Order: sequence, then C-alpha cells, then structure tokens
Amino acid sequence: MTARGNLFIVSAPSGAGKSSLISALLQDKPADKQVSVSHTTRKPRPGEVNAQHYHFVTTEEFKALIAENAFFEWAEVFGNYYGTSRKVIEQTLTDGIDVFLDIDWQGAQQVKKVMPEAIGIFILPPSRAELEKRLTGRGQDSSEVISGRMAQAASEISHYGEYDFIIINDEFNTALSDLVAIIRSQRLTGAGQIHAQNDMIKDLLAD
Ligand code: 5GP
Repeated sequence: MTARGNLFIVSAPSGAGKSSLISALLQDKPADKQVSVSHTTRKPRPGEVNAQHYHFVTTEEFKALIAENAFFEWAEVFGNYYGTSRKVIEQTLTDGIDVFLDIDWQGAQQVKKVMPEAIGIFILPPSRAELEKRLTGRGQDSSEVISGRMAQAASEISHYGEYDFIIINDEFNTALSDLVAIIRSQRLTGAGQIHAQNDMIKDLLAD
C-alpha cells in the first residue's frame, strides 16, 4: 500500500536561501518528491522558465483562476499575485509523493487551515547583515527592490513561530541535511508507517 505523500510548506524571508535548498533537494529528480509550480503575475527574472519556475500569467488570467476556485491558496506578495494550483496537489499526494510549497506566510496560514497535517518549515538567515549581503549579491533586482525586501523580511520573519520546524541557513550543506532529516522523519511517524507498512504489521501480528 502506498502511503499518502506529505505536504511541506517552506517559507522564509527573501534571500534566506529557500529556493536553493529546495532545488538542491530535488536536483536528482527523486521519484518521491515534487515541488509545486505556482502561478504568478510577477515578470520572469533572467533565466526563469515558464512552467518550470512559475506559470507566468497576467493579472486578468490570475483573477479568472481565483474565480474558478483553481487555487489551493493565493496571496499578494510584493505587489504581485502568487497562487498554488489545487489540481496537482491532491493527486500528487494520493500518489504517495511528497509535495513542497515554496510560499509565503499568508499562503502557509491558508494551507494550515484546510490541511492542518501539512508540515511547516521556516528558513532563517543567520543574521540581518548576512541577509542583506545575500539580497545584494543576487544582483538581479534594483536597490529600491532590495530595500523594499529588507523591510518585508522583518514582517515575514515575525511569523516564524507559526511553523513546525525552523532551519538556520548559515552553512548550506548543514541546512540541507536538516531539511532532509525533517522530511525523512515525517515518513517514519507512527501514522505514516501504519499506512505504509500495513501488510507487514498485519503479518507480524498474525497468530
Ligand atoms: P519570488 O518573486 O522571489 O519568486 O517570490 C516572492 C515570495 O512569494 C516568496 O516568499 C515565495 O515563497 C512566495 N510565493 C511564491 N509562490 C507562491 C504561492 O503560490 N503562494 C504564496 N502565498 N506565496 C508564494
């Protein structure tokens, strides 16, 4: 029997390294893990590919999707709309695949409301100075955008207490192994194992 996949919500202030951690986690295309590709009205950054990084849509298209109830959750972040498509998630979880949502705190609250068993992970940078360095180092956004994001960072960070796990992304490989440990532990919960190992447990208990 295939155990249902787990739904992981991963949030962080911009620049904490969340996308890099998720990319590293999925780089070998593991069959049991998948990231949800969000819809957004934000313009693509250099190197971003439609349907791979995001489904890039117009505001009109996004609003039509809201009206169709197509989103599992959606929010306005930094003046753009972002949303998680409902369709893919349920089927993927049923297929026993873990799904990762790279979403902000507003989306996380919505998901927790409808799916309290979803596992929230918050990624923190090791310091404010390091966060600023990383945001500047990315070199893709104007200084106006960077200072706007620094101002938003404190507001995003203030929600850290709403998450089940907190990872400090100081040394990247340590943060990655922390993430892997959290994911693995969720596969080993009593409830998960009862479902996944049902036949084996029945056999062990047979007279
Ligand atoms: P960026 O524009 O840098 O890719 O993302 C900006 C913020 O929007 C990040 O915190 C990211 O996690 C969040 N975000 C991306 N997709 C979604 C989504 O589908 N829903 C919500 N609520 N937030 C999202």
